[in-house]
Amino acid sequence: MHQDFFKYQAQTTPHPLAMEVSHAKGSYIYDTSGNKHLDFVAGVSACTLGHCHPRVVKAVQEQMETYSHVMVYGEYIQEPAVALTKLLAEQLPAPLESTYLVNSGTEAIEGALKLARRVTGRSEILYAEYAYHGNTLGSLSIMGYEERKTPFGPLLPDCHAIVFNDEGDLEKITEKTAAVILETIQGGAGFILPEENYLNKVKERCKNTGTLLILDEVQPGFGRTGKLFGFQHFDIVPDILVMGKGMGGGLPIGAFTASKEHMMVLSDQPKLGHITTFGGNAVIASAALATLKELLETNLISETLQKEKLFRSLLVHPMIKEIRGKGLMLALMLESAEITSEVILECKKRGLVLFWLLFEPKAVRITPPLTITDDEIKEGCAILTEVLTSVSKKYPSA
Ligand code: PMP
Repeated sequence: MHQDFFKYQAQTTPHPLAMEVSHAKGSYIYDTSGNKHLDFVAGVSACTLGHCHPRVVKAVQEQMETYSHVMVYGEYIQEPAVALTKLLAEQLPAPLESTYLVNSGTEAIEGALKLARRVTGRSEILYAEYAYHGNTLGSLSIMGYEERKTPFGPLLPDCHAIVFNDEGDLEKITEKTAAVILETIQGGAGFILPEENYLNKVKERCKNTGTLLILDEVQPGFGRTGKLFGFQHFDIVPDILVMGKGMGGGLPIGAFTASKEHMMVLSDQPKLGHITTFGGNAVIASAALATLKELLETNLISETLQKEKLFRSLLVHPMIKEIRGKGLMLALMLESAEITSEVILECKKRGLVLFWLLFEPKAVRITPPLTITDDEIKEGCAILTEVLTSVSKKYPSA
């Protein structure tokens, strides 16, 4: 099995956390040797409702038996996509009304950038240092890690970095800027929250210069931080909202939402504003609709804040320098990259799935399903604490 994996996929060495997956249910992943692993990562924030949530399973099964793919959703009227975009609009403040469904967070970023350039007739895009928005050529162009981009250059022209949370840098937003794109909470950088009033100041400067504000909610979106979207913690509305990951309850989907007036630009001449064969796919849209309904009809979103408190109360240990983030988007900051890796690997051996953050090697990612129970949190934190204590013996100064 493993040999075939390395032979036929773009992998040559086993990932240190690799396991052969048998199945997954709720907050647990089961491997083919019969071991049970408590999942504190949720497919990198994608499995909002845990694994195989009955409501999502039922929605997918029913839709699959009705129809799956008949035509691009812009051409045929397909109820799951219509219902999903309507329910989203009902949750969002004006003027965020019109949603374009795509296949991933990255594709939604591409759509948002194209929309901003078409709406404003400008080309300059400002992005934040240490930002991550995906890996296609467009999204790489706005990645805040210059050294990771150079092997793929030349990338999109007219994309420039600003420093996240630096109000002084906002002067770089001018009448030439099409859009400023920010993660509402920086993910790969280490779960960095915007400082008080920062996003409001960005929005104000955008408004004064005719620049669009794009907020990337691929990580914090869909309830993870105690509101349906992270920007709802602040008194602002972006011009374009980008979604992905948790939206599909474990299935691949992305979306960008803007005002109807702006979104119409994509159907103006030249007509090919954005095209995607599977965007709005009926099965995937049904999964996303079931996920959103479950979030809205239960207390899962508000409970993320109580669960955050429980995590913070249980994760008190001399090895932990800080816990960053909000709700169930938490980053445990340790002394060094070496210690972080050791903790993650040792936890895996003891049945707890953790992960790194993309660009912050001292952080342990804790982004469990929103459905995780208090007992499961206690179980995982007990393993983590045990591991921290045993690793601390090797690094007495940490
Ligand atoms: N934006 C952010 C903030 C992300 O974290 C990610 C994925 N890690 C993306 C965009 C891209 O999403 P995807 O990989 O699902 O296309």
